[in-house]
Formats: sequence, structure tokens, C-alpha cells
Amino acid sequence: VWGEVEDVGSEGAASGSLLSALPHEHAPGYYPALLSAFDSGGRGAAFSATPESIVSPIQRPAQILAIGLNYQDHFDEANEGRRAAGQPELSQPLEPTLFVKSPASVIGQEDAIILPHMAPSQVDFEVELAVVIGREALNVPVETALRYVAYCTVGHDVSARDMQLEGPNGQWVRGKSFDTFCPLGPFAAVGGDPSGCDVELRLNGEVMQSSNTGSLIFDVPHLISYLSHSSTLFPGTVIMTGTPGGVGHFMNPPVYLRQGDVTEATIEGIGTLRNHVVLDKYDGVVPRTKFAR
Ligand code: ZN
Repeated sequence: VWGEVEDVGSEGAASGSLLSALPHEHAPGYYPALLSAFDSGGRGAAFSATPESIVSPIQRPAQILAIGLNYQDHFDEANEGRRAAGQPELSQPLEPTLFVKSPASVIGQEDAIILPHMAPSQVDFEVELAVVIGREALNVPVETALRYVAYCTVGHDVSARDMQLEGPNGQWVRGKSFDTFCPLGPFAAVGGDPSGCDVELRLNGEVMQSSNTGSLIFDVPHLISYLSHSSTLFPGTVIMTGTPGGVGHFMNPPVYLRQGDVTEATIEGIGTLRNHVVLDKYDGVVPRTKFAR
């Protein structure tokens, strides 16, 4: 059920009016119906929703494409980390650094981020502007790229740094794809300009990351164009646009998510995505991951 939000309370409760009924997210015709419902706006019955009852605007994305090192201050802190570890520095990116996250990693507002039993100790936070594609996009020029966007929302690219970075060649996809590692929401911002929005992440109330999407190295139209020239972007594709500096892994000493922590990711004009951190309750066999002789 979609609604047009007219008011958001200080604790995150939302009220407004319902949009017209839509088919299931995976039904044919869902995205055309969604875009047309956005165009006509909320004219249905009034609703009011508690934060706990607000689900992610996208439950099972077609795919999640994610961009690494897309803010200069984050690129610089990553290189400082590599220098400190005696690793060769990365050269300035001339095109976007692409990886993917599993669609199974999506959760919504007030849902729990689980510290995974395979890698519980270095779980880190990254606030990101998330862009959801609403029309099939292939070979799209920069100038018209924003026409393919259904909406923008707040994304949180949770990362298990040990698994992501410490393997012999790194394991970005595995380290960023655990279940619950992609909070998205709470709201969908439709038709706005995503190029100059303040971006902030607070951990237990303390500001850890603070930037603006105007500081993206590759902005949203360039990302859509770039990605659409290598494969078709189906409706329901999420693009995570990268995180600014201030992630926990590169702090001295490092800061990682612990049970009971609360993360609040805010993007100006969209809202605040709030999640809490819990331990993995799995107590079965943990498979060994070093298979090579
Ligand atoms: Zn990221």
C-alpha cells in the first residue's frame, strides 16, 4: 500500500492519503502503475502509520548496483587506510567503481541490522542516496537520465569490513550482501532534484558522516548513463550512489556496529532511516571458508 505523505512526526510516524491500489511488486505492469499513481498523487482515504509499520518502498529489487569511492573524502580516507596498512594506493577513479549487493539484503524502517555469524566484528555504516529505476534503461544519455528514475530514497550500505577487505583479493560483494545489510526507506521522494541534498549518518545520536550529494564524484545522471551502457537497467534496479567520508573503519580507533546501537541515516528532502543492531541468533555449524590448500 502506497500513500502520499503529508506530515511526519518527530518520532517518524507518517500521515497522508493513500495512492490508488497497485499490483504486487513483481507483477507485470507494476512500475508503469506506480509511476502513474505518483503522477496522480494521493487522493484516497487518509492514513496514519507508525514508524514500525512503514515498510521499505522496495522489497525485492531486480538488482542492487552500488558505487564505491564516489565521494572524494571517502576515497582519501580509504587511501590513508591503505597507506597505514602498507598497501599500494588506489589511483583517482576515472570511471565509477561498481559492485553489487544481494537483493536479499534489503530491510526497511526500524528493522534490525543483524551482525552476521560469519563476520560479526567489523560491521560498518555507510549512508547513501539510493536511486530506484522505474523505466527500462539502455544506452541512456546523461541529459535524459533522470527521466528513468522512479524515486529516490535513503540507503544504508552496511559492510562487514573484515570480509570485504581482508581476503587476499577482497570480497566486496560477499562482505556487503549479508541479509539485513541494505536498509532502504522510509519514504520515496518523487520528482525532486537529487543533486544538492545534505546527507548525514548518526550513530547513537552522534553525527559520524555529514556531506551533500553535490560532492559526488560521479553524479546521478552520469551513474545511470554509465551503468545503462553496459547492461539494461530493469525497473526495480536500485543504484546505491556511494558514501561520504567518516565511516567507522577508517577512524582511529575504528568504530564498528555493536548490539544495541541505533543508526539514523538522513537525506534532506527524503527522511530519516532508523535501524537498530542485534546479534545473529544462528548457533549451527559455521562452514570454514578457507578452501585452498
Ligand atoms: Zn557504499
